[in-house]
Amino acid sequence: MTLRLLPETVVIRIAAGEVVERPASAVKELVENSIDAGASRIDVVVADGGRTLISVTDDGRGMDARELALAVQRHATSKLPGDDLMAIATLGFRGEALPSIGAVSRLSITSRPADADSAWTLAVEGGRTAEPEPAAHPPGTRIEVRDLFYATPARLKFLKAPRTELTHTVEAVNRLAMAHPGIGFTLSDGTRSRIKLPPAPGDLFAARLDRLGAIMGRDFADNALRIDAEREGIRLTGHAGLPTLNRGNAAYQFLFVNGRPVRDKLLVGALRGAYRDFLASDRYPLVALFLEVPAGAVDVNVHPAKTEVRFRDPGLVRGLIVGALRHALAEAGHRAATTVAGAALGAVRPGGLPMGSGGRGGGPVYAAQPGAVGNFLAETAAAYHAPLPDLDLPPGAAPPAPDAIPDADDVARENVLATYPLGVARAQVHATYVVAQTADGIVIVDQHAAHERLTHERIKASLASDGVARQGLLIPEVVELDEGAVDRLTARAGELAELGLVVEAFGPGAVVVRETPALLGETDVAGLVRDLAGDLTELDEALALKDRLGDVCATMACHGSIRAGRRLNPAEMNALLREMEATPHSGQCSHGRPTYVELKLADIEKLFGRR
Ligand code: ADP
Ligand code: MG
Repeated sequence: MTLRLLPETVVIRIAAGEVVERPASAVKELVENSIDAGASRIDVVVADGGRTLISVTDDGRGMDARELALAVQRHATSKLPGDDLMAIATLGFRGEALPSIGAVSRLSITSRPADADSAWTLAVEGGRTAEPEPAAHPPGTRIEVRDLFYATPARLKFLKAPRTELTHTVEAVNRLAMAHPGIGFTLSDGTRSRIKLPPAPGDLFAARLDRLGAIMGRDFADNALRIDAEREGIRLTGHAGLPTLNRGNAAYQFLFVNGRPVRDKLLVGALRGAYRDFLASDRYPLVALFLEVPAGAVDVNVHPAKTEVRFRDPGLVRGLIVGALRHALAEAGHRAATTVAGAALGAVRPGGLPMGSGGRGGGPVYAAQPGAVGNFLAETAAAYHAPLPDLDLPPGAAPPAPDAIPDADDVARENVLATYPLGVARAQVHATYVVAQTADGIVIVDQHAAHERLTHERIKASLASDGVARQGLLIPEVVELDEGAVDRLTARAGELAELGLVVEAFGPGAVVVRETPALLGETDVAGLVRDLAGDLTELDEALALKDRLGDVCATMACHGSIRAGRRLNPAEMNALLREMEATPHSGQCSHGRPTYVELKLADIEKLFGRR
């Protein structure tokens, strides 16, 4: 064996292996360079998933002949003027991308500085650099990469199908575009346009939301909460989706640190924490968060691909994210995603017949029998509105029914409706849903889901203040259970007592319940205790009950006063609506499902072909 220094071409190829893993990473490096060069538009073309051609064209500051020659040398960069790795304000800083790409492909760079009257071009093939030559090109830079990895056949073999490589490339460009909404981006696969993002106008939040909507979908833009928080010099901005807008995987969770897309487990954990009470554990919220971290509080020099960072104080960053999101979610009050109504409308078919079942030209089938059906409905509705004797109404709980206000008094009617976002209860149907009239539509509330959420929030609020109020049972109730269930309940007796439920072991096969949470009212104690014992088998032992409040509250609410199947009078229905309006997070149950659906009059009119 001979110990020797490796030749430069081999050294570069080794380094290139880390910087350019696949076509998407080469595109990412080139687009980052264009962003660093102050470009206002960046156009990318890839052929065969980037294997035969990648080209990136920008209108940035460009390079002269001397800079061109330097740019392709290892560790040549214009971005570390003070040699200070703590003060990195650009996406690049390692001076590795161009030489690495040049080492494994046929690279050509054509560039012209804004103030020069001619352009220069430079070619690098498999690491061998030619002399710069004069060329014709508008101000800006065009970089072409042909036959990526031709010089490293081992890497070439690992490339996936062009379609897969293209997907990675589109994702990489989209991610950079999300963080730089002021720049226009296009990406074409040679035949079809894959990305077309004009520069987004407006202030930071407006431009960003516009850009995020274009990439993550309109639904996100329509249902995202604005995030803006700061702690110890670290600023967090961005947008976070309402819990009712969720997905089965984490593909729509983005974190950016100083304009750089990063992947960090910290985000996953923080989002879990922030949305824990509002989403089932297998559902993921959609978010795009942007951290501005002062130099010195973050290290981006962790990996050549620059997609990982190290925070000096990860706990601080996590706390900032969790706190800001929880705050925004609380502010959202009863808001639920508009997608819910969209999905509901999609399921509604006019005329009661499946659309298209009658073939073409079937026409609408409207049964116009106002006499029979209409009268019946009117009577039923009237029965629901019959005033109930001796009701103790909470103030404001039962505004007058809008139609009870004389026709002439439009103002009064609008006032009532405008005061109550969830409207005025008009009927209960199937002893399960409350139908309310709002200023510009109708709201259908799942009374059980809503009540579950309200119970959850009440327990949470009382835990935070002076504890959950309990009410003693006149006669303590003995509930027979199997031994395992008794053990599980008594092991958690302390925690259950905090939540308002006092249980003790009562021999080997039973517990005695002495007190229940006051806010549940009269409950089916035995059912509640059995179901809670069931919950406890499924709950992670390491988790405090408080941290799985959603599950416990769901069970409690099930045994509380308002379940599905319980008749509600108008006062109760309105009280439920008013409480929902006043309670944070009441737009969704503990598992991310909506507690109500709102249909706008405009949409209903569309259903009936009136618009
Ligand atoms: P880094 O980005 O880390 O500095 P690169 O190898 O990616 O390293 O680029 C080397 C240098 O080439 C950059 O520092 C920059 O001065 C110059 N450069 C690269 N791409 C462009 C571009 N599109 N426009 C202007 N200058 C560029
Ligand atoms: Mg670079």
